[in-house]
Amino acid sequence: MIPVEEALETVLREAKALPSEEVALDDALSRVLAEDVASDLDLPPFHRSAMDGYALRAEDVAGAPAALEVVGEIRAGQWPDLTIGPGQAARIMTGAPVPPGATAVQQVEKTQPLDEFRVTILAAVAAGANVAPRGSEVRAGDVVLARGRVIDPAATAVLASAGKARVRVARRPIVALLVTGDEIVEVAATPDPGQIRNSNGPAVTAQARLAGADVRVLGVALDRQDAITEALRAGLAADLLVVSGGVSAGDYDLVEPALLELGTTFLFTKVAIKPGAPLVFGRRGETLVFGLPGNPVSAQVTFELFVRPALLRMQGARVVARPRVGVELTDPVKNHSGRKSHVPARVRFEGGRLVARPLRSMGSGDLAAHARANALVVIEADRPRVAAGETAEAVLLGCFLEDDGAPL
Ligand code: AMP
Ligand code: MG
Repeated sequence: MIPVEEALETVLREAKALPSEEVALDDALSRVLAEDVASDLDLPPFHRSAMDGYALRAEDVAGAPAALEVVGEIRAGQWPDLTIGPGQAARIMTGAPVPPGATAVQQVEKTQPLDEFRVTILAAVAAGANVAPRGSEVRAGDVVLARGRVIDPAATAVLASAGKARVRVARRPIVALLVTGDEIVEVAATPDPGQIRNSNGPAVTAQARLAGADVRVLGVALDRQDAITEALRAGLAADLLVVSGGVSAGDYDLVEPALLELGTTFLFTKVAIKPGAPLVFGRRGETLVFGLPGNPVSAQVTFELFVRPALLRMQGARVVARPRVGVELTDPVKNHSGRKSHVPARVRFEGGRLVARPLRSMGSGDLAAHARANALVVIEADRPRVAAGETAEAVLLGCFLEDDGAPL
C-alpha cells in the first residue's frame, strides 16, 4: 500500500508528453494548447470608442454645458477622415475609431442636439474617458496564451482575436477501456437476478472524454483470465489502457494475472485511499495501464485523482489537478480506515466561508450519492474523526457553487 501522494507522483512521472497537431479553432475546445500564442495586432487595434456619443476635446467641455460644432459622424468599421479642432465634436458609435484631436467621448445620454450642426454637451468629461487607447489591452507580439493552457471559451476568444484560425494542440490521448465482470450487462438490458448494469463503462468514458481523450471501448469481458487477456490485446496500442473491475482480492479478480501475461510492469497495486484501495497502475511498452476497482464510486474517484491527471499531463496541461480549498464541515465525519478518505460532499459559500455538507452515502457502490456531490472532502489517514465546525481540505469536482437548494 503506497500513500496517495506517492501514487500520483509515480503516475505523473510515467505520463509522457504526446506529440502535437494543428486543428481548426472550432475543434480546439477543451484541448491543451501546445504553442505560445502571440497577438499579431495591438488590442484594441485603434483608439476605440466605448460608447455611442460625441468625440470631443475634454478641455472644451470643462465648463459644461457647452455647445460644440458637429463636424461629422464615425461609425464602427469606418476610418475617420476628419480631425477634431477646438470647439468641435463628431458623432461617434461604440467600437468606432476615435478621430485625431479628440481626447474623450461623452456618452449620448449626456448630450442634447441643438440644431443640425451643433450639440450641447451637458456634462464635463475627463480626458481619456470612454476611449480604449490602441494597445492598452495587448501589444502586438505579446504572448496572450501560454502553452499548457486548456482551451476554454475565454481562451477561444483570445485565439480568435489573435487571428489563430488554426491552433497547435496536443494530440488526444487514445484510451482503451475494458470492463470486466460476469455480472455486468449492457445499459439497455434489464438485468436478470444477480446482474448489474454496466455503469462504469459509460462513466469512465465520459470522464476520459472530458479530460480530452479519444475513447475506444473494448466491451465487457467475463471473469476468465483468457477472456480478459484476449480482450485486452486490442487495447495495447492505446496511449492508456483502463480496466474496470477484477482488481480486488476475490477468486475471480483476474485482471492482474491477465495484464502480467501481456507483459505489464506494475508500479503499484494498492493505494492507501478510500474508496479505491485496489487501484493498480503499470506500464506495458509505451502504454500506461490502470486497473480501477469495479465499485462505481471507487472507479470514478480513482479516475478523477489518478487517471485524469495522467491524461492532462500527457497533453502538456500546466494544471492537472482539480482545485482544492479549505472547508468547514457542517456535520462530523469518521475515518477509521487508516487510509486517506474521500467523502462525497456538497460545498457551498455561506456566511463568508466555504462549508461542506458530507452526503449520506451507502459507500463505494453508492453512485447516486456520488452524483449529488460537488466535492470530495479529504480526511487524512491519521484523523479518525472530524467534528462539525472543524476544517478539512476539499477537492472541487465541478461547478461547485451552483446550487439549486434542493434537499440532498
Ligand atoms: P470488482 O472490483 O470487480 O470486484 O467489483 C466490485 C463491485 O463493483 C461489484 O459489486 C461489481 O458488481 C461492481 N461493478 C464492477 N464493475 C461494474 C461496472 N462496470 N458497472 C457497475 N458496477 C460494477
Ligand atoms: Mg468483478
